[in-house]
Amino acid sequence: MLRLNINDTFTKELPADPIEENYRRQVPEACYSYVQPTPVKRPSLIAWSEELADLLGIKLTPDTKDKFRDLLSGNSSLEGFKAYAHCYGGHQFGHWAGQLGDGRAINIAELSHQNQQWVLQLKGAGPTPYSRSADGLAVLRSSIREFLCSEAMHYLGVPTTRALSLVTTGEQVTRDMLYDGNPKEEPGAIVCRVAESFLRFGNFQIFLARNDKKNLQKLMDYTLKHFFPAFGPPSKEAYISMLQEISDRTLDMIIHWQRVGFVHGVMNTDNMSILGLTIDYGPYGWLEGYDYGWTPNTTDAQNRRYRFGQQASVGLWNLAQLASAFHPLIEDKERIEAILDSYRTKFQDKFFSMMMAKLGLDGSHESDKMILSKLIETLHLAETDMTIFFRELIKVHKDLSPKEALGKIQLAFYEPYMVKDALKTNWINWFELYIKRLKESDTDVSERIQLMQESNPKYVLRNYMAQVAIEKAEKGDYSLIEELSEMLKSPYTDNPKYDHWYKKRPEWARHKVGCSMLSCSS
Ligand code: AMP
Ligand code: MG
Repeated sequence: MLRLNINDTFTKELPADPIEENYRRQVPEACYSYVQPTPVKRPSLIAWSEELADLLGIKLTPDTKDKFRDLLSGNSSLEGFKAYAHCYGGHQFGHWAGQLGDGRAINIAELSHQNQQWVLQLKGAGPTPYSRSADGLAVLRSSIREFLCSEAMHYLGVPTTRALSLVTTGEQVTRDMLYDGNPKEEPGAIVCRVAESFLRFGNFQIFLARNDKKNLQKLMDYTLKHFFPAFGPPSKEAYISMLQEISDRTLDMIIHWQRVGFVHGVMNTDNMSILGLTIDYGPYGWLEGYDYGWTPNTTDAQNRRYRFGQQASVGLWNLAQLASAFHPLIEDKERIEAILDSYRTKFQDKFFSMMMAKLGLDGSHESDKMILSKLIETLHLAETDMTIFFRELIKVHKDLSPKEALGKIQLAFYEPYMVKDALKTNWINWFELYIKRLKESDTDVSERIQLMQESNPKYVLRNYMAQVAIEKAEKGDYSLIEELSEMLKSPYTDNPKYDHWYKKRPEWARHKVGCSMLSCSS
């Protein structure tokens, strides 16, 4: 028997769908439906996050290994816990999509350990009442991407859902990866995701759409009680404070994305966590060239709604949808407007401070805003690797000439021989400003270096890295998943062992599917 400290509050306190059969349907007046994972043929545990397991009070031993493999593949269930799928709706690409729900996610445990509440959720464990026309499954490539990236984000200090395990199912799943009429069989897999809660904006929105104030209130009160207890018992004031807090957390999360160069790719309101966690790793990507216009998601190629430079405004748009969902219980348009306005002003300040830290400046100087805007402009002139640029910038100091400083960041240019004429002049001009500013700074050099090292990761999950790991894994070699997982646990620390990963994207990966081009098919 697996000994886990079950503490199930969601199903105890919130309304259930009365139907327990597993067929696809609309589920009114409920927060969830009970549903069991579908057993799989040949489950095999291929990756495991030990540090996360510790937080859950779980230990993988020769005795428990097979039991966990069975639990985390959906082949067995926890005694005393009834698995369930969430009911939620959402705006997809700007349009209300109606009921969506956990179409391929099943919550298999709610645990308490050391005063912390956790939900364990299997992604890809078979259909649920919310699967609509899809199969409820997930393929190995997208599961590896989710496993690696959620853990990498955690170690980067970005709020995120976590990943405990990755299991292959021994079954094949059919996917038309590029939606171009070429379906293919791929290995199936299941990730066990972990978070304090998987509630999304869409869980609240569905009740607004259904004009169901009674259940909206139940869900809001549950959320308040468990995740925002500091705001006290249910009241208009408490709901307003909760909305403000969700707005602040969402903004903080997006500022982190901008700091590390992460593009979520599908910021639909059903993919926005109520706790401000990065959730639903689909066609996400990492910036290579610093480019506000970039998105990895080919499904969004035309409008590029979810491009890098747009993430903060989409966050606000999504918060406005959440605010509408809360409105029946707040009934105060002015206070809601004030919260959304505060997002705009806070964004300006927080983005500025975050970028200043990346530059090793304190932002106190009147020229700092201009230095930043000129840098962003210059970075866009020619393909310049974001991660390498900011990391190498740490080596620039006040005693260098602008030309020497430019030499320090050569590694960041995808086509260094293009850095001449007007482009070179732009860079020299920028370094002149930057070095002058460093000379005027009274920040201690070692302090500046530390600030920059903590703000500018050296190792991120570049798009091609996950792809190389996937191609090996599809041949049965999981060693790279382990190597990347290890490396990404210390993203801010120089480690010569990983020099081969501190490199620009190789040319072969520039237009390769899975590297720079990803669809929602997963
Ligand atoms: P996503 O774009 O991955 O956030 O998914 C949007 C909606 O589609 C959610 O309700 C998912 O649960 C559902 N969904 C995505 N893929 C599948 C699948 N293979 N089977 C069932 N539902 C899915
Ligand atoms: Mg989703």
